[in-house]
Amino acid sequence: MSNQLSDRINSLAPSATLEMAAKARELRAEGKDIIGLSLGEPDFNTPDYIKDAAIKAVNDDYNSYTPVDGYGELKDAIITKFKRDNNLSYEASQIVVSTGAKQALYNVAQVSLNKGDEVILPCPYWVSYSDIVKLADGVPVEVPTSIEDDFKMTPEQLEAAITPKTKMLWYSSPCNPSGSIYSKEELRALADVLQKHPQIIVVSDEIYEHINYGVTAHASMAEFEDMYDRTVTVNGVAKAFAMTGWRIGYIGAPSYIARACNKLQGQVTSGANCIAQRAVITALEEPVSRIQYMVDKFKERRKLILGLLNDIEGFKCNEPEGAFYVYPDVTAFFGKTLGGKVINNASEFAIYLLEAANVATVTGDAFGNGNCIRISYAASEEQIIEAIARIKKAVS
Ligand SMILES: *Cc1c(COP(=O)(O)O)cnc(C)c1O
Repeated sequence: MSNQLSDRINSLAPSATLEMAAKARELRAEGKDIIGLSLGEPDFNTPDYIKDAAIKAVNDDYNSYTPVDGYGELKDAIITKFKRDNNLSYEASQIVVSTGAKQALYNVAQVSLNKGDEVILPCPYWVSYSDIVKLADGVPVEVPTSIEDDFKMTPEQLEAAITPKTKMLWYSSPCNPSGSIYSKEELRALADVLQKHPQIIVVSDEIYEHINYGVTAHASMAEFEDMYDRTVTVNGVAKAFAMTGWRIGYIGAPSYIARACNKLQGQVTSGANCIAQRAVITALEEPVSRIQYMVDKFKERRKLILGLLNDIEGFKCNEPEGAFYVYPDVTAFFGKTLGGKVINNASEFAIYLLEAANVATVTGDAFGNGNCIRISYAASEEQIIEAIARIKKAVS
């Protein structure tokens, strides 16, 4: 009985990615051969050297509660990683390890937002941002971007979105879903706007940092001295290390925010899983070159899928510079009749692709941008070729 439930949960939107997965499962159960390109996770296994560290941790009897904010050794490894990869200096009191980057983001929202505080979200944004903000009584303020700007927010757009109620800016770079990367210069231009508004905290989600195809170098907002004290750098091992199920994410933050997250987490989940934390020490301490083979594979697949999609009339793609998604603009199909039905929006288009081509994608609406669909290329070459061939047939 939903009237027995809280307003909070009743007003929460179900995850669009999960809804698509459920619909795909239904069709599979009917015997349809569905190719799933809706998932946001690598199709690789966790590398052996990381698995070995986990096995060792089990045998070494790591089984007790860990410190709420993570093992000291893991925090040290994170501090070294931030210095090595991002030129960021953090102390142990500024690091909190959580059960996935998702919990890290949830913590930051819960400890930072009061009712009515506005959070600027450049669109498209990662699917959970807006609902995590709403769960903390915050108000998501969506800033639409366009494919012409490579789906990046301009300083002018940022300035125009700021009100006296603006408390935070959240973005991911490389971006899920668009694959766009903010260059250091672009971040500086945004920081220049933020200088005039010292109350705004920035959440920089860098979970795809290592999945970068070498066009634009990764940059962190906290690298700027004048932004360091009000930026929360969020990262995790799920994507680059093929460790989605291990559930380890972390933040580097001003210590008052880190302390608050620690306090919250101590009452909600306590420390993250002990074995996973031990494995992540190894993941972070080993050279990044050990995971390059996965990035190389994603890069080949990116080229493959872009070539195939650009060959279909009506699909307009930006060139993703990181992550493992393409985010084609499909507005050319709106108002057209496909399979006897008029396609009005991206959701109907994604459903059409699922039913007519048996390919699962995700509607752009889930990411705050209704002109596009998201297609993951974390799938085999054969699956990509077959899926795009089916899509081409279904729309021509
Ligand atoms: C996958 C993802 C997350 C969540 O990461 P977990 O560590 O699995 O919780 C956060 N942000 C973005 C942009 C993601 O794509």
